[in-house]
This record gives sequence, C-alpha cells and structure tokens, in this order.
Amino acid sequence: KSARKFFVGGNWKSNGTISSVKDLVFKVLNPAPINFSKVDVVVAPMAIHIPLVQSILRPEIQIAAQNASITGQGAYTGEISPEHFKDQAVPWIILGHSERRNFYGETDQIVAGKIKRTLGAGIQVIACIGENLKERESGVTTEVITRQLSAIKNSISDWRNVVIAYEPVWAIGTGVSANPNQAQEVHAEIRKWLHANAGDVAAKTTRVIYGGSVTDANSNELIGQPDIDGFLVGGASLKPGFISIVESCA
Ligand code: PEP
Repeated sequence: KSARKFFVGGNWKSNGTISSVKDLVFKVLNPAPINFSKVDVVVAPMAIHIPLVQSILRPEIQIAAQNASITGQGAYTGEISPEHFKDQAVPWIILGHSERRNFYGETDQIVAGKIKRTLGAGIQVIACIGENLKERESGVTTEVITRQLSAIKNSISDWRNVVIAYEPVWAIGTGVSANPNQAQEVHAEIRKWLHANAGDVAAKTTRVIYGGSVTDANSNELIGQPDIDGFLVGGASLKPGFISIVESCA
C-alpha cells in the first residue's frame, strides 16, 4: 500500500444548483483541513457546473467529469467529448459508472472506447467496474470483474493514468456497503488481474478504490484493508461528512 497515494473521489451525479454547489465549495471543501500529501481528492460536478467550480474551488482539489462522449468533436448533438474536457482543463473523467451502464446502455465495448479516447486526449480515467446483486448471489463476481477489466485492457497503455473503482452495483445508493472483507476480497482479485495482465509495476502502483454507500461511519474500517486505496463516494460527497471520509485516508 505504501507505493500508492490514497485517492478519494466525490461523484455529485445529477445533483445541485448554482447555489448549493457554491455552498458545498465555500463551506465544506475550501476550509477543510486535508493532508494533500497523503490523499488525492477529486470532485465530479455536473458538466454544466464545472467552469463555476473551477473558478471557486481551492486548487489542491481536482475536478472530474462524470462521463464523456465516444465520438469526439463534430456533428454529435448534445455530447461533450474528452477533447472538450481537455480544452476546459479537466484532468479526470469517470467512465463506466454503473448508472451509465444500466440507464444509458453503455456496454463494455462502449466503456472501452470512451476510455481509449479519454486517455488519448491526455485525461486521466476513473474506470468503474462491479457486479450486480444477481451476479453476486450466483457466485460470478470474479468472472464479471474479469470480463469488465479485460474489455478495457487494450484501451490502456499507461496504467499510471488510471484509477480503478470497484463499485458493486448492489451497494450503490442503497445504504448497504460491502463489508471490509467482501471489498478486500474483490480488490485483491483486481490486483491479481493487474499483475497477470498489466505487470508487476502496475499491480503495485495502480490505485483500486471502493465505492458503494461509503460514509464517515464505515470509511475507517474499509480503508484498513490492504488493497483498498481510497473511495468513490456518491451521496455522502454532497455533505460535510465527505471530509471525514477523506480524513480517514490521511
Ligand atoms: C457512486 O455512485 O459512485 C456511489 C458509490 O454512490 P453512493 O456512495 O451514493 O452509494
């Protein structure tokens, strides 16, 4: 774990108004005592709020987009491409989130294409994977994770630009987090996969973060696990408790 800096992302999803975003930045994020030498902190506002957040957020906290198009610049009505986020100086994009996969039909292949384009544009990726409840109950979690990782493998030439977020779908937004042993078990599988498919260095240095109902009540015990390098936080990232989650890492 010592080779890896902790990483905490806050996925704000389709939430917030100009006024609530300002409150979150000025009252929660900007004044917080955070040890940035120990932890990378990245927040993902809605795309329309990114320029606002860039103009008011302290510079030590980085910004992510929540999605990007697979198609690039051109006649693609309504889409925002990785190249546009690069132009806007956004350093991270979350890709493959289960809400994108489940509500907007993003297949493994689409996620792979988006990751390739995003890395090609010079933007780092938070790549989300995770099994659903039915898959966990039928005992195929490892197969699902392996399939999702294999699909994106050829899109990634330099693992230093990628953080893997393990987010079991049954734990997202449900209040039911994976327990520390359940999460550690899968994180260890992911690291094993990295070792076999991306090499020893990538296995040792790639951050694998956990997401799914993380709060300030369970972050301490989760971060104690050897292969959990931080968190991707949804609901709790909109509240002051987000800072306690960050502090549990540093
Ligand atoms: C997420 O959407 O990435 C997430 C983990 O959500 P929540 O923390 O609300 O479960």
